[in-house]
Amino acid sequence: MSVEPEHIRALDTATKQLLWDRMIASKQTVSTYVVVLDGGSLETMELSAAQAEGFECLTCRAQCSRGAGAFVPVGRIPSVGSVFQCVACSVGAR
Ligand SMILES: [Zn+2]
Repeated sequence: MSVEPEHIRALDTATKQLLWDRMIASKQTVSTYVVVLDGGSLETMELSAAQAEGFECLTCRAQCSRGAGAFVPVGRIPSVGSVFQCVACSVGAR
């Protein structure tokens, strides 16, 4: 029982953060996507791959990596994935 779990957890978190940062950095290519909003309407948006794949807020590009409950799904992009907004943008936009 001499193992200190905090150290392992901290290392694990740092490693995850590093991998996350690299993953986000690899998804900064901006393309045009047709987004199917939850209301059923279609909207053409210029989004980074990270936004299109649901890793960043659709509006302010805050990352969805932490406190996932603070993000709400707002629609989807066919054959790509769901898109999200953070609560602040979600409330502000509607
Ligand atoms: Zn936002």
